[in-house]
Amino acid sequence: MQPLDIAIVGTGTAGSASALFLARQGHRVTVYEKVMDPRPVGAGIMLQPTGMAVLSALGLVNEVVARGEPLRHLVAETPSGRRVLDLAYADLAQDLYGVGLHRGVLFQSLFRAVQTEPGVTLKLGHDIEDLARDERGHFLVERETKRRFGPHDLVIVCNGARSSLRDDTAHEKIVRRYPWGALWAVVPDVEHRFTGRLFQVVKGTRMLSGLLPTGLGPDGSTPLVSLFFSLRADRLDAFKASDFEAWKAQLLRDMPATEPVLAQLHTHDDLLFSEYHDVVMWPWNVGRVVYLGDSAHAMSPQLGQGANLALVDAATLAECLSSTDGLDDALFRYSRTRRAHLGWYQFVTRWLTPFFQSDLTPLGLVRDSLFGLACKLPIVRSEMVAMMSGLSLGPFRRLPLHSRPPRLP
Ligand SMILES: Cc1cc2nc3c(=O)[nH]c(=O)nc-3n(C[C@H](O)[C@H](O)[C@H](O)COP(=O)(O)OP(=O)(O)OC[C@H]3O[C@@H](n4cnc5c(N)ncnc54)[C@H](O)[C@@H]3O)c2cc1C
Repeated sequence: MQPLDIAIVGTGTAGSASALFLARQGHRVTVYEKVMDPRPVGAGIMLQPTGMAVLSALGLVNEVVARGEPLRHLVAETPSGRRVLDLAYADLAQDLYGVGLHRGVLFQSLFRAVQTEPGVTLKLGHDIEDLARDERGHFLVERETKRRFGPHDLVIVCNGARSSLRDDTAHEKIVRRYPWGALWAVVPDVEHRFTGRLFQVVKGTRMLSGLLPTGLGPDGSTPLVSLFFSLRADRLDAFKASDFEAWKAQLLRDMPATEPVLAQLHTHDDLLFSEYHDVVMWPWNVGRVVYLGDSAHAMSPQLGQGANLALVDAATLAECLSSTDGLDDALFRYSRTRRAHLGWYQFVTRWLTPFFQSDLTPLGLVRDSLFGLACKLPIVRSEMVAMMSGLSLGPFRRLPLHSRPPRLP
């Protein structure tokens, strides 16, 4: 394909990875980012073998994995110690693992690479509200000033779950906020007690708490750990008005492993609240505009896949642009190629989330009696590990993994 003039909106995971792939293919890329001085903020996330394979293609995997904590298992149990989930990457392949990571590490690695990539122009501090089009191409319209940027041959929308740029598509779509979200805190784990596994405790469907080893973070040399605690968004005010010490005491009874984390939390303000969105649309291309990452398919982080899916989106779009002649055909091929993987993860996330976060209490009983048993069946177990690794395309179907995670020392 001829070199294109490409605009990317948003320099998060999908935007930065796309900018790097496409500039390296010889396209002229301009990235428009709302934040004037983007910083490596956020909670712990899980990087999966799929995400690592994309970072490997970008030459960034070693620096990212070096600041994360390798994870071999995912374990969930009830406060009485009954196993609800017990999954090991090794059940799929010995060399697979996940990485607990501060979101800022992924951001920083991608953003620094974008800053020094010769074919990329970064335009920071531009809040893009709308898209416009004339015979010369696409324009981006800034919110406050109504300034127009462009024309561009192609616009890649990567501005996250709350994107207002989806309004420019006539496609049918669902965009809704989940009733549930999560409180989270990232604190030092000076004694490096939290290693090797994501550990969750569930009680009914209204209490879910997790401890995610989070690696070294963007700077520094002290290991970090993230605490997550599930909460309905409409109960946030009640939580903030409640007795914080009583909340800590209850969590400590349900999940004694939180003790070193809770000792570092003193007020409600030490926890931040994140909401989740559910976005469903297809196709993800409309004319010469294409939607990637959370702007296209945000989902609850129950399966810990959002950033990994955004990375796979970026790699797939680049592959479609490089191997298809016409731009329209390449964009439609992108939507067709991503449909099975994304559709399956959205389906399973929507199906699974109420078992862990909802007011449907009986689902908790079903989960506690069946999930642990199901995990023991080798065939179900390997399907669940494929799902956790980001590799599932549906029962017994797998996404090809183009490179394996780096060997660990
Ligand atoms: C509590 C929680 C836990 C999570 N855990 C995991 C996990 O374990 N594993 C995982 O893979 N994912 C996880 N995720 C999801 C993951 O963080 C997202 O899926 C991922 O960051 C999406 O990347 P993105 O590039 O689409 O959007 P983002 O990373 O949100 O980037 C969007 C970018 O667009 C910019 N922007 C926004 N609006 C505009 C505008 N109008 N104009 C210009 N720029 C704009 C933003 O400033 C930002 O830089 C979690 C999410 C939450 C909330």
